[in-house]
Amino acid sequence: MPELPEVEVLRRSLEPHLLGDRIERVEVRNPSLREPVDVARLRRAARGKEIVTLRRRSKYLLIDLGGGWTVIVHLGMSGRLTLAPEEAEVEPHEHVAFHLRSGRRLRLRDPRRFGVVFAVRTAELADDPHFAALGPEPLEPELSGEVLANAAAGRRGPVKAFLMDAGVVVGVGNIYASESLHRAGIHPGRPVSRISRRSWDRLAASAVAVLRQAISQGGTTLNDFADGEGRSGYFQVSLTVYDREGEPCLTCGRPVRRIVQAGRSTYYCPGCQR
Ligand SMILES: [Zn+2]
Repeated sequence: MPELPEVEVLRRSLEPHLLGDRIERVEVRNPSLREPVDVARLRRAARGKEIVTLRRRSKYLLIDLGGGWTVIVHLGMSGRLTLAPEEAEVEPHEHVAFHLRSGRRLRLRDPRRFGVVFAVRTAELADDPHFAALGPEPLEPELSGEVLANAAAGRRGPVKAFLMDAGVVVGVGNIYASESLHRAGIHPGRPVSRISRRSWDRLAASAVAVLRQAISQGGTTLNDFADGEGRSGYFQVSLTVYDREGEPCLTCGRPVRRIVQAGRSTYYCPGCQR
């Protein structure tokens, strides 16, 4: 499943290929995604419009267009957004395609159809229900211990669930939460009420470092997005605890443990994380 680093790598890889191009035609082969595609609205927003900027908010890719519209794509569980020459064959599950003036098409392939494509007035993005409840981005500006400490005030519950709460900070999914906590030396089950300000600082810095590292590792797959071959470009980051139950901690050598929290696997080192 694409996480924030994958979406950020996708954004960076597509950006130089898309800016200044123009969407000539919008083709929706199957509107039955997680949310039904409003085809008429999407066409009205995008047809004939220049691509002005590519942004990311949480795991949404935001394609700002001339005329004050933004097309938003979420890849769901299995979606892939690739750029292909116009003459390339239609892929299986290619549900939405933006035909570009440059003779290419930006296509969404999504076998499981958990993706989302919609258009919003750029000026109204912040109030859109997809975005209104989201917490701050972790990277720009960099997440601080202060933000976490303030969000934790008066709350209970284990720190891992807190860190994965998109209302606290977006983009720290299950894998990155485990990795950030290990890096910060904090036990995933520790209640948020028992975390010091210094530990919050350490955790914030750890989350930033882990996400940055994932993005830079994903950067090596940049060409996969742009070559039109339809390869996914999702990448395996080097993980220190996640999915390493029983294997030695890379820091202290003790076996990594797995516990289940809120139905999700958590991996941690009993030596390094208190
Ligand atoms: Zn350890």
